[in-house]
Amino acid sequence: MNFKIYYKMSILIKNIQLNNQIKDILIEGQHIKKIDDTISLQADKIIDGRHKAAVPGLTNGHTHAAMTLMRGYADDMPLMPWLEEKIWPLEQKLTEDDVYWGAKLACLEMIKTGTTNMVDMYHFFAGTARAVDEMGIRAMLTYAGFDFELHTKAETYKKEVKQYFESMHQYSDRIHFAMGPHAIYTVSKKLLMWIKDFAADNGLKIHTHLSETPGEVKDSIKKTGLRPVEYLESIGLLNSNISLAHCIYLNDTEIKMLADNGCQVVHNPASNLKLSSGNNFRYKDLKNAGVTVALGTDGTCSGNNLDMYETMKLASLNGKAAWNNPTIWNAEETFKTACEPAQELTGFKTGKIEETYLADISLIDLNLPEMTPNFNLISNLVYSANGNCVDTLICDGKILMENRHVPGEEEILKQATRVAFDLIKR
Ligand SMILES: [Zn+2]
Repeated sequence: MNFKIYYKMSILIKNIQLNNQIKDILIEGQHIKKIDDTISLQADKIIDGRHKAAVPGLTNGHTHAAMTLMRGYADDMPLMPWLEEKIWPLEQKLTEDDVYWGAKLACLEMIKTGTTNMVDMYHFFAGTARAVDEMGIRAMLTYAGFDFELHTKAETYKKEVKQYFESMHQYSDRIHFAMGPHAIYTVSKKLLMWIKDFAADNGLKIHTHLSETPGEVKDSIKKTGLRPVEYLESIGLLNSNISLAHCIYLNDTEIKMLADNGCQVVHNPASNLKLSSGNNFRYKDLKNAGVTVALGTDGTCSGNNLDMYETMKLASLNGKAAWNNPTIWNAEETFKTACEPAQELTGFKTGKIEETYLADISLIDLNLPEMTPNFNLISNLVYSANGNCVDTLICDGKILMENRHVPGEEEILKQATRVAFDLIKR
């Protein structure tokens, strides 16, 4: 008989600022094992936490990772011409290898800016899954669904979804599979219903874009007689397993429907501002109704970077300006919005530095001008810092970046650049 000994790697972080106190944090395997004033135990790796602060790894609640390849390719256009004339034609030429390098670049950027968890929706699922697996972060990955009311497209999509779902055993448990219908204006009712049933049968979450522009609301009413949230409710898609990106144009009835059904909403301030989709996201009303609000960057074609620190600042400042109220989106609440919805949104127990949580932790460099003086760490993180304040990143109990260096980063920049320039020449 063979006996296997599973050895758990341990990391001990000494004397680090955690919630305004100085603590030691012990990580064993994938989890945070112990937090105390002093921990005197041996560990495989000891990190000196002096002049650093520990904060949870952030969750990017909505992105299209491989779009990093198109960063800066088409800016300053309205949403629909931007999609129809620039993005979708270029995406027709993508290959799985392109998506792999684009997603590697996205993961690298996320690691360097403190994000350990993302919700992704894109083409060539296997390319993104392989990249995330290798890079060591977590993700809830969806395969973007479109059928444009065409039966053959719907059938191909169903077949591919089944294949990707069945292929999940080959990836790490840091990756969760979910359903990703693109939007109600690109996916037929029939396919949406199939997606709903497939998700329910297999215990999967669903992520989609919703109510991003006034035109989408107008078209939904014209086509179905219902506003977007009402339409999803009418076909049984609203429940606690669905998260909705954007949701800028909601009326009171729709907010109540989202709350009653336990749906999550992902706000993408950079994308909404840049595409002028709307700056009146109803954060306060959603929150008062009990809806979980998370933050996302959207793809780097519309938000241009994947820095959740910048996203926090934009959400807060834009929210204050839009509602003429400096007290909403306060620093503490904004920071929590980037961390704590992780479990509800993606199913991973992350977003807090507490014993039993998964060990997804950023170590912030406090010896930076923008972090000085350190009266209020969270205020500095939301309003003053950017993602470059992250010195060391741990995900799933493994160090992915130390002293701002990620192993292999030079090769990723080189390959992603090669693939991006090749793509636009095709
Ligand atoms: Zn999007």
